[in-house]
Parts: sequence; C-alpha cells; structure tokens
Amino acid sequence: MSHADNPFLDLAAPWIGQLHPYVPGKPLAELERELGIRDAVKLASNENPLGPGPKARAAIAAALAEIARYPDGGGFELRRALAAHHGCAPECLTIGNGSNDVLDLIARTFLCPGVETVFSEHAFAVYAISSQAVGATIQVAPARDYGHDLDAMAALVNPRTRVVWIANPNNPTGTWLDSVALEAFIAGLPSSCLVVVDEAYIEYVDEPAFPDASRWLEHFPNLIVTRTFAKAHGLAALRVGYGLSDPRVAELLNRVRQPFNVNALAQAAAAAAIEDREHVRASVELNRAGMRQLTEGFARLGLDFIPSVGNFVTLDLGRPAAPINEALLHRGVIVRPVANYGLPNHLRVSIGLESENARLLEALEAVLSA
Ligand SMILES: *Cc1c(COP(=O)(O)O)cnc(C)c1O
Repeated sequence: MSHADNPFLDLAAPWIGQLHPYVPGKPLAELERELGIRDAVKLASNENPLGPGPKARAAIAAALAEIARYPDGGGFELRRALAAHHGCAPECLTIGNGSNDVLDLIARTFLCPGVETVFSEHAFAVYAISSQAVGATIQVAPARDYGHDLDAMAALVNPRTRVVWIANPNNPTGTWLDSVALEAFIAGLPSSCLVVVDEAYIEYVDEPAFPDASRWLEHFPNLIVTRTFAKAHGLAALRVGYGLSDPRVAELLNRVRQPFNVNALAQAAAAAAIEDREHVRASVELNRAGMRQLTEGFARLGLDFIPSVGNFVTLDLGRPAAPINEALLHRGVIVRPVANYGLPNHLRVSIGLESENARLLEALEAVLSA
C-alpha cells in the first residue's frame, strides 16, 4: 500500500513502509465459503494431520475449569516440564505464544535501528518481518541449492551484526545443515552476535548427521534454540513454543515478554505433550509414510521437488505456480504458494493423511494434464 492509499503510513515508524505482512495458508473455511466446496483438504501450513495426542487433549479438558483466571505468567509447570525434558535449568527457558513470539522477542530485545541482522534467501518469513518491525538493517545471504550457504552468511557478519537466524531444517525448502558445518559456523561467530537455530521441525528429521543444537547451549552462550508445539505436537491453534538459551539471554527476553503471552490451555497442553513420546513417534511415522507416498507420486507425474527432511515438500513446477495453485483450489486442495519466498515456480505441500495425500496427487495429475 502506498502513502496515497494510506495516509497513516506517514505517521508510522519509517521502516514500516517496507514491511510485507506474513501470508498464511488459506483456511479451509475460507475456501469452502468462497467456492462452495464441501470436502476441501488443507496441506498448506505444516500442521500435524493427527492433531494433538491423548495426553494433551486430556490436559486441555482439565484446564478448562480454570480459564476464568489469568494463566501462570511465569509458566512454572511448563518450564519445569521443558527443563526436565531438555536436562537444563528452568532459567534457560523463554515461553512464547508460538515460537514466532519467541523469534519476535529476540528481535525486540536485540535489534533496533543501526544494528544488522543476517539470514538466508528462502529462509522462514518471520525473521524478516520481526527484524524489519524494529528497524534493523537486514542482510540476506544468497542460498546454495535452496539451502543456507553458511560461508555466504558468515561473510555478511560484521561488528554491527546482533542476530543471525537459521532454520534447521528450513521452511519452505526442507533443506538442512549437518552437525559439523553448523557447529563450526556458530563457533566462528563473534561473541557480539547471537545466533538463533529454529528447530520447528526437528522431531521429523531422521538423519544421523543432523544436530540437536540444544546440546550446544553450554558451549555457546550466544546461541538461542527455538522449538514449537505447532508441528509434531499437533497444537498449532493453541500457539505455544519456547526458546532455550543461556539464562542471562533468557532473562533479557523475559523482560520484554508480555506476562500472559501463553494461555492456560496452551501451557497445560504443552506440558503434557512434551512427555507424550508415543504420539510424536506415531506422528513422525505417519509423516515418513506420507513423504514416501507423495514423493513417489511426484516422480510418477514427472515432477521435480526439493528433497525435504520436514513434514512438507516443495515442488518445482518449472513454470509459474500461481495458475496451478488456483486450479488446485478449485478442486478443493489447499497447498502453499511460495512466491513471497522468491520461489514463484514452486508449491509447498504439507504431508497429510494417506487419503489427503492421495487427493492432492489426483488433483495435481488432473490439473497438469488439463
Ligand atoms: C511453523 C514454523 C515455526 C513455528 O511457528 P509457531 O509460531 O510456533 O506456530 C517456526 N519456525 C519455522 C521455520 C516454522 O516453519
């Protein structure tokens, strides 16, 4: 929107004019409203098709009795459960209204006009939005094979750089960095620069060389690791995630955090979910089978895709994806266009139930042969 369209832009902080809002996956109800479709499927936001596990569901039901009261602003029980899970002190934890909230807290705590921040081309969109919202100078490193090029990122770090953002694996590309490369990159950063390793999809990764960066926290006081309950734990609508860091970093993030940022149902559900290894295992197993089903289907249709270790896979259509996306919508299948990530020929598909994956493959076949 230009200044002519919106005179209030003149009143906003100068950097707000450059901000592009996050583009979410289209909600099912919206497509059904717009096109009068009944049985649409949504494979657009990397949600867990199984939903939450039984332990989280029971915890939500029990917590309903207390929703007239404000939640525990300190998140005592949730942080205790997370600390036990990670073998760290509760003081290392910062809870968020989704891990996006933690990413935003990091930006608001450590970034401002005059300092710089670094992330990769095709990286998760929230790094740009949160950094721009506080007026920091953004340095974008070109990607290599769709993934993070750590040498290119390191070359952009200077004494003004305060935060480097890394999604491992990355969304929307599904690419990943191995333990040796990532640890060497972090070790090479100056102590004046924090590094965020966003592990939103770590539960899904089945690669021996893939790092759990939370194990490095004692070595790297400038490291912040973020996790979410929105993906493998199936709690996207409740909005809950967390950061793991040196307690001195967490103390600063918690100064900026709104006192009741994580609601009571979310706190109870997350504390139960982190213990429910069986549900995560079942979710990961379903994902593995769905990934095989989809990638074999894509190969059969002669479609290229970026190999992914997450719960989604990004197709390379070799031509503009927008019309194909539109045609899929008319067949009741919602996937995610990623033109705003600099990938106008690609579509990101979340792994769903077997029947949902089959619906997508059928619709793709029909649309591509039309
Ligand atoms: C989905 C996702 C998140 C999680 O966001 P929430 O706010 O926890 O729902 C974080 N980072 C990446 C890269 C993601 O794809």
